[in-house]
Amino acid sequence: MNRLVVVSNRVALVEEGKQQQAGGLAVAIQEALKSRGGIWFGWNGQTVDGPEGPPKITQSGRLTYATLALNERDHAEYYNGFANSTLWPLFHYRLDLASFSGRTYAGYQRVNSLFAGKLAPLLEPDDLIWVHDYHLIPFAEQLRNMGLPQRMGFYLHTPFPAPEILVALPAHEALVRNLCAYDLVGFQTESDLRCFANYIRYEARGEVTELGSNSTGGTGAVRVRAFGRTVTAQAFPISIETELLAGLAAQGANSVQTQRLRDSLVGRALIIGVDRLDYSKGLPQRFEAFQQLLDAYPANRGQVSFMQIAPPSRADVAEYQAIRRELEGMAGHINGRFAEFDWVPIRYLNKSFNRKALAGFYRHARIGLVTPLRDGMNLVAKEYVACQNPEDPGVLVLSRFAGAAKELDAALIVNPYDIGATAENLQRGLTMPLAERRERYEAMMRVLRTNDITHWRQAYVDTLAALEPEQ
Ligand code: UDP
Repeated sequence: MNRLVVVSNRVALVEEGKQQQAGGLAVAIQEALKSRGGIWFGWNGQTVDGPEGPPKITQSGRLTYATLALNERDHAEYYNGFANSTLWPLFHYRLDLASFSGRTYAGYQRVNSLFAGKLAPLLEPDDLIWVHDYHLIPFAEQLRNMGLPQRMGFYLHTPFPAPEILVALPAHEALVRNLCAYDLVGFQTESDLRCFANYIRYEARGEVTELGSNSTGGTGAVRVRAFGRTVTAQAFPISIETELLAGLAAQGANSVQTQRLRDSLVGRALIIGVDRLDYSKGLPQRFEAFQQLLDAYPANRGQVSFMQIAPPSRADVAEYQAIRRELEGMAGHINGRFAEFDWVPIRYLNKSFNRKALAGFYRHARIGLVTPLRDGMNLVAKEYVACQNPEDPGVLVLSRFAGAAKELDAALIVNPYDIGATAENLQRGLTMPLAERRERYEAMMRVLRTNDITHWRQAYVDTLAALEPEQ
């Protein structure tokens, strides 16, 4: 079996016995690496003053971690700059928030080249290389420029935008050429795959051949010929550790934290939202929809609480500071308008919780409210469902613009821009009969049990391994 080399912007060192605390993706990658043996390579999350040194090697059984620090300039231009101020907003359809700078683009290419140069000496000829996410799109081309022929796959954890949006990026052609240096390009959904195929057809004037579903579980594969290369592109919807989370939630239902939450609600229904504090998550519209619920259905006043957990992220980037200020204003306004001496409508928390705590909270919430304006998948939506009590499940209210809406079509699907309709669906969820809640829950759990995160990573790695080397 070929060795696997995973490259991602951040490397999560998961300690033995602490898998329950780590994120599902980190555990899945670790499992894939353990089963084949291999290397996990990337940034260690630290910035240093001087030049970047050699990777630090940490051995854990058959798995090698190789991690690097970034210097301040590279961090500013590659991470905060091109990755998070250009590609992230662009890929989430926010041209109004995307900045375009030759300097940060050069920094992005420079760090990809630097990373590729540090990984190259660690590689063996028949390694399978799996690169993750928008930070590292040029990585394979940098390796190819050094003459490396290994099979290389890329997986995008964000949406891939429609060509009409992508072409606003001055370097759009170079970026898609970068993608074509891989042998396999994986997307979250078929809609992302279609956007990529359309770019290849109509902008790059390449060839796209439909391959249909394949035996490894990915869907709707295409073969692309463009920029002098042949690439397989396919949708692999990422998922969660369904059974593990269901178990955690069953235990978490009686944890001290969940007990305290339950006590504090004194019998009121809970609506829960859990999101990184990010403008793609539709939080202002969500707050407005909750306000509309209280306006249009006044019987909910004093009876329903909305808890929004929103840990801050990317706090160095100005747009993230702006969304934080906006939400503080809105939460204060709505609470000031509706609060009673014994009830506060919105509990707005700028902090993160571990998976066990979240699992208990999700299970206690009557509604999971997940309304991004654009989201690659949205794992919180899947986690909320997996954590429900099968005997008395809550209701997922889910944006049609989350990748998860394709698989979780038994949720109450909403357009988050339509505040009134979102409020109506909240009301529908709060009053939904048990039989309907169960039916919807069962339908969604069937999907999540079949496509859990183990299925996802095996489908991806098997597809990459089955490709002919050097097409
Ligand atoms: N999460 C967490 N603690 C928090 C908030 C979020 O562990 O306080 C986790 C959440 O359970 C989920 C992930 O962070 O697994 C967020 O993934 P998602 O796909 O929903 O959104 P992203 O942040 O990747 O855009």
